[in-house]
Parts: sequence; C-alpha cells; structure tokens
Amino acid sequence: MKAPGWLCALMAAMVASVAAHAADAGKVSWPKTAEVLQGGLVEVKVSGADLAAVEGRMANEKIYFYPDGPGSFAALVGADVEAKPGLAKLSLKLTSRAGAQSHREVLFKIKSKAFREESFNVPPGFDHTSPETLDEIRREQTAFAQAFAASGPERLWNAPFLRPVPHEASASSFGSRRIVNGAPRARHSGTDLSAPMGTEVVASNNGRVVLVGNFFFAGGSVVLDHGGGLFTMYFHLSEFRVEEGEIVTKGDVVGLSGATGRVTGPHLHWGARLANARIDPLELLKKIADESTKAKDAKPGPNATEKNHDKGRSGQ
Ligand SMILES: [Zn+2]
Repeated sequence: MKAPGWLCALMAAMVASVAAHAADAGKVSWPKTAEVLQGGLVEVKVSGADLAAVEGRMANEKIYFYPDGPGSFAALVGADVEAKPGLAKLSLKLTSRAGAQSHREVLFKIKSKAFREESFNVPPGFDHTSPETLDEIRREQTAFAQAFAASGPERLWNAPFLRPVPHEASASSFGSRRIVNGAPRARHSGTDLSAPMGTEVVASNNGRVVLVGNFFFAGGSVVLDHGGGLFTMYFHLSEFRVEEGEIVTKGDVVGLSGATGRVTGPHLHWGARLANARIDPLELLKKIADESTKAKDAKPGPNATEKNHDKGRSGQ
C-alpha cells in the first residue's frame, strides 16, 4: 500500500525537478567540448539571460568564472605542461536570478604538444645536491607552495597582458625536456625571455605580490597573484622593486633582470600558473590579446591593430 504512494511522490518530485530544471536554467549556451594543448589556455564562455552566477570545477581545482557582459560569464582554463592527453571534464554549476541551480558539463580534449629537448651544463654545485642545497631546495618548494596556496577570488587582471621585458623568447622555450649536465631533468615550466642584465621587468598585469625572495633554482623571484587562481612569476632577478603584500598595476617595475639562481646567463624566466596548471605565459599574450583586439574591432580606435605584433609566434 505504501510503495505506490512513495513512488508517486518520488515521481512527482522528479517531474518537478525536471520542470524546474528547464524553467530555471532558461536558454543557456555553453561549449559542449573544448580543446587545449598541453601548457595551453582556452577561454570558456557561458551565457543565458537568466544567469546570475557560474561556478566551475575541474578535477580538484576550482575554475573561477567572472562576468563578461550582460548574462555572460567567462573563465580561463589551462592544461598543465604534463597533463595527460585525453578527455577531462569541466563541471559547471549555474545559478539563475531566481536562485535555482542546474548543472552542465564541458568536455576538454587535452592534446599533446611536441616540446623540444635541450641540453646544457651548469656548475657542478647546482647539479650535485649536498645536504645544504637539499635544505635550500626544500625551502624554495615550501615558499612557492605557500604562495600558490591561496589565490584571491577577485579577478584583478584585465586585457591585455603585457610582455614583462621588451625582448623575444630565447632558445629555451616552454615545456622543453631538459638534460642538465648529461642527466634528464624536469620540463621547463616557463618561457625564457632574453634580457640583458639590469633590464626593467614589469608586472604583466594587475595583481598582488605574494612572494619576493632569493632561491636556489629560481634566484631572485617575484610572484604575482592576479586573482581567480592565476599567477605569473619572474625569476633570476638581480634586484627587487616590490614587497610582499603590495598591489601592483600592470606595467609597474617589479625588479631588474639578472642571472641569479641556476642559470647559464642573464635572462628573465617568465612563468604562469592557472588553477595549479603550469601554462606557457606567452599564451596569456596570444589568447587574451585576441579578446582585446575583438573589443577594439567592435569600437574602432586609432590603434586597433597595435597589439598584433605578438601573433605569428606559433612555435611558442
Ligand atoms: Zn627558465
């Protein structure tokens, strides 16, 4: 006697939930699939007239969505340089203006990228790890882990991102497999930009300084938190121009380039991290510059094509 009533109630609840689902979500458009290369970056947009908020999650990482015009939300999603090629899932939680929630999914196809291999030598002290250097390396790892542990939820950056030094990438490109003093080492997790000693290094975008320090591998280092899980890093600096906790505006000088840490000569190592994925910082110039170019196309100005000089660098 009880079973049918229970079933009935359950079915009624299911019907109500399906109906509510359809009504609350309204018309939502979102990409069903997206592609991203190892170390690459893609912008995901979700829109719907009734949308009030979008939350994203990929594996264990929160993906921050920010308002991108009326009824539209966008997020940057990156694939780690060593992300396994294949499918990954971005789960979306949508909240309507009325407060109702619904879920969507974006399938990410992570594609493998052919990275270069490079071989170089460093002084033996940098290669053979003595107990003292092991302590130094542990201190470095802890400092960076702490800096990355808490990104502010508020997005501080805006398009476009700036190249931190005016120079081009050097021979040591992002993702290259490194052979140091004859032994295989970790992939290169940044892009090296040529920079003569003492070149002013500027903040690629607005952010909060979350780390300033001298370390074994990275040398003089500055890390900026741009909010929403996005960080940029500036290594091998000879001098600092900022302090931890400071808020910087894009273009502000954060330090001077140098040859500190494990290096073979002066240059700037520029790194980026998004939701704990190590991505190629040049992607920030390429992908976000595209957005700003689009915006400028819609409202033509005198320098509508000025930012195009970063294009055509498809190798990086
Ligand atoms: Zn480097």
